[in-house]
Parts: sequence; structure tokens; C-alpha cells
Amino acid sequence: MAEGRIIKALSGFYYVQSNNRIFQCRGRGVFRKNKVTPLVGDMVDFDESNPGEGYIQNVHPRKNELIRPPIANIDQAVIVTSASQPDFSTLLLDRFLVLIESKHIQPIIFVSKMDLVSDEEKSKILQCKEEYEKIGYTFKLMTTKEPELMREIVPYFKDKITVIAGQSGVGKSSMLNTINPLFNLETKEISESLGRGKHTTRHVELLEVSGGLVADTPGFSSLEFNELELEDLPSCFPEMQERSDACKFRGCIHNKEPKCAVKQAVEAGDIPTYRYEHYLSFIDEIQSRKPRY
Ligand code: GDP
Ligand code: ZN
Repeated sequence: MAEGRIIKALSGFYYVQSNNRIFQCRGRGVFRKNKVTPLVGDMVDFDESNPGEGYIQNVHPRKNELIRPPIANIDQAVIVTSASQPDFSTLLLDRFLVLIESKHIQPIIFVSKMDLVSDEEKSKILQCKEEYEKIGYTFKLMTTKEPELMREIVPYFKDKITVIAGQSGVGKSSMLNTINPLFNLETKEISESLGRGKHTTRHVELLEVSGGLVADTPGFSSLEFNELELEDLPSCFPEMQERSDACKFRGCIHNKEPKCAVKQAVEAGDIPTYRYEHYLSFIDEIQSRKPRY
């Protein structure tokens, strides 16, 4: 048996990459025996039945998985957020960060369309860059007008599975097309004219970029906190998580508890107020979520 990674699933076939070759495989037994449906990104064991063809026999345990788009074993997510059109929003950025952190995926923040902002807006974004870098995040500014700058992202792809996240129109396809014209992704005008139906028939594929694999379909298309439990939220804010040992109460959620190290850090100006306010609004959102049953 050989080992490989599913890089594409289409019409009942799984395309498995192994030692720089692609094998067109069908699932055998995996569905019934393990009740596991193979996903793009899965590591699998397969038998080569004919040259270039085979049967998947086993799916390795996953480190994480997304439902939309269906991909397993994601290492990192590039959050593309635009400086303008649509407006830069730390609230939206923090929402993406929480969803990504909750799946144990490494985030990278990319602010696109820097050519469109005034000096005043630029200095606001630079201030945020400093604050997010202090938390430990990679935070890069870019514009398609400077392709060289944009290509600074390329080394980050090596040896990883990456999904690109971000709302529609922020410049995800433009970025991928700029760093690698082989992507040849449709930018917004075209995909809009084709309407929404197109997404239901599209397959997910991992494309090779600079020794890594990048999903050709944006991740985190749903921004709901449906899968998130309240007690998981603090760990999605690294600057809060690292202070939580100093809180008086074990399991402090840094809300109404007294002697909370996080609230003290906010008061001292060590944690930006807007980060904490977003955190509190996410608590409210999770608490007011309708029970699922
Ligand atoms: P996506 O929906 O996130 O994939 O966004 P697109 O890549 O389709 O970009 C949406 C629109 O923004 C298109 O009209 C792009 O030409 C434009 N755009 C993308 N990046 C930039 C940029 O850095 N500067 C400017 N001025 N426009 C950009
Ligand atoms: Zn606390």
C-alpha cells in the first residue's frame, strides 16, 4: 500500500498525490467500515490497481476539518481584509481570527488595496499592524499595484496546506493571480455575473504554490459561531489566553469575574480596548445563540 494526499475530489474520484505523481482513486470500504468520507487534504493509504489508478483503503486521522469548503488538515489561513472597498474592520478581522484559532489553524493577516487609502487611514491601519504584531500575528500590507510586495507571502506557503479567507471583493483572487498566474482565478466581476449556482457545482482543489498546497476555494465562508462553545472563546484570543493563569478564578472567562488579569491588562492599555470589546460581543453572541435542539 502507498501513502498520499487527496488534492482533488470530483465525480466520485479522489485524486491522490504521492511521490509527485497523481493517482485517480475510488474509495473502497472507507465509507462503510469507518463511516469516514474522504476529504480533500486527507492523508490516505491506497492500493495501485492499474498504473495511475487505485483504491483508497484507509483515511489517516485528521488534525482539523472545515465543512465549507470541505477540506481536512489545514495548517494555516491567510485572512485577506481590504484597507478600503470594503472598509477595513477590526471587528470582522477578529471574527475571522476566532473562527480560525478555534480550528487550531495558524492565521496570517493580509490587508489588501493599500493603494486606495488616505494617509490618515493608512496610519490607523499601521497602528493596528503594531497591535496585532504585538499579539504575535503576522500582519502584512499589500496592493496589486506592487506585485513584488505581494509575493512576500509566497514563502509562507511552503510545506503547508493553506486556505485563503476573507469576505467577497477584498482581493483574494487578485492576490493569488498576482503571486501565481497559474491560478487564473476569476476576479469578482466575472464570478458575480455567473450567479451563486456556480458554487454548488464547483469542486475543491489544492493547488501547488511554492512547495505548498493552497485551496482554490476561499475558506470560512460562514462567519457564524455555531460550532464554538463559550469556554473555547478565551483561547481564541492569544493575548488573553497567555494572561489567564494570573486570573483569580480558574476558568475565568474575563467578563464579570473579579481580579481578572485580562481586565487589568485592558485597563492598563496592554490589550487594545477594541479587542476586548469584540471579545465581549462574541460572548454575548454565543450566549444568545438559540439552542440547537
Ligand atoms: P475576491 O472576491 O476576494 O476574490 O476579490 P477580487 O480579487 O475579485 O477583487 C475584487 C475587486 O477588487 C476587483 O475589481 C479587483 O480588481 C479589485 N482589487 C483587488 N486587489 C486590489 C488592490 O490591491 N488595489 C485595487 N485598487 N483594487 C484591487
Ligand atoms: Zn480573567
